[in-house]
Amino acid sequence: MKFRIAIAALFLFVAGSAAGASPAGRSLRVEVIRDGDGYKAIFDLPQSAPAWAFVNSALARRTKDSWRLRSWVVETPRVKLERRGDFDVFTVARGNVPRRVTVRFTPFAQDLLADYDPALAFSDGTVALFTGHFAAGPWLAKSDRPEDPAPRTTITFRYPGRQLLYKGVPYRSATTGDLETYVVFGTPRPVAGDGFSGIVDPQLPGWLRGEMVEFLPRSIALFRERLGAPGGGGKPTILISWAGPTAGRHSQGGGVLPNLLAVRLEGDGLLTPSPDNLARLRWFVGHESAHFWLGQAVAYSQPNEAWITEGGANLLAYRLIERIDPNYQSGLELHKDWSDCLALAKDKPIATAGSRQENRAYYACGSVFAMIAEGAAQRKGRDFFDFTRDLLEANRREAGGDGVVTMEEWLAALTRESGDPTIARDMREMLTVGVADPRSAIASMLQRVGRKEPG
Ligand SMILES: [Zn+2]
Repeated sequence: MKFRIAIAALFLFVAGSAAGASPAGRSLRVEVIRDGDGYKAIFDLPQSAPAWAFVNSALARRTKDSWRLRSWVVETPRVKLERRGDFDVFTVARGNVPRRVTVRFTPFAQDLLADYDPALAFSDGTVALFTGHFAAGPWLAKSDRPEDPAPRTTITFRYPGRQLLYKGVPYRSATTGDLETYVVFGTPRPVAGDGFSGIVDPQLPGWLRGEMVEFLPRSIALFRERLGAPGGGGKPTILISWAGPTAGRHSQGGGVLPNLLAVRLEGDGLLTPSPDNLARLRWFVGHESAHFWLGQAVAYSQPNEAWITEGGANLLAYRLIERIDPNYQSGLELHKDWSDCLALAKDKPIATAGSRQENRAYYACGSVFAMIAEGAAQRKGRDFFDFTRDLLEANRREAGGDGVVTMEEWLAALTRESGDPTIARDMREMLTVGVADPRSAIASMLQRVGRKEPG
């Protein structure tokens, strides 16, 4: 307890740099205060404008409408919150929005379409809020979007009389310009783990909780042992919230942010530990935590290369689960990835799958390519962890790299592993041009590394 009182005196300031900023480039300041059961956000706008837009304005997944309009109430007279095109905006009927706008809100703890959940709500009252949803900038009416897609925003979080957790450390208040993290209102006891800090909802059903206190720390420890330090140089925080046993629902969602993994579990479909449930949960946890390495220690240089990080995270997860549970059948997963890849790669380049709304190709074909790299590694008595570790060491910032792995760098690593440049050549063709018969192209690459088609 003494320790806790000692650190309670700390305040955190992550200073936003002000150097060289023009008056128009001054930072938006937001103060977010938990006040009883409610929350208040006070926006101090750095300049006058007729409308201010929230740059992260994805819609709620279930209702396909604005989550801010559902959960925010503007208290400042004359100011309205409304939807304009793809953005939520503060507006006024005439003139400029007042320079100070106050909003009361209820944390919106539901999924969005392609963005982080605004809030994670834990059953003990702990709430985590996503910082990026407070970022706003002047509205550019002539092109129907904010002037600046990434306006400077500095947010101070306060929980009067209590504490906040920011990046795993308790504070009385936290001021940050990091728009890609969650701040936790409350200081729940973390799950013990080597080199990470986990916050698990106390109401999480027993078997899920067991997985989070057993499987998750073992996963992180094994990845750390085989791949080195995770990205960001810090200690990852993992937030696992339970949204309740909603009837007819089976939902595990979340996302990885720098040094932080947010997981939201919901539904009566998750109440019992069927083998299927267990496999799906472990894949999810394994894949997402693999992104602390493949994704954060090194990233891709553009979304077209997501096959590097998604496929790699898949194979790392399969191999991880196998080590922890010898009954796990990675062959079933690899077979599914392989057959999905055949369907998604015929006559079209895998790299541009995203523009066709076929993101699944990055996961499926990425796993297959990872399996080919693994085959090459195995011929030298190595495995996919070794291949990935070399890729990380060659590119991570701490080792003098640029923190990025491009397609050509990955293919060069494959050629170093296999000694056969024709494999990388054929893979490049599937990635950038497309082939008429992906099945025989993949079978031939697998054969060159001494492996058969999965299944
Ligand atoms: Zn992923």
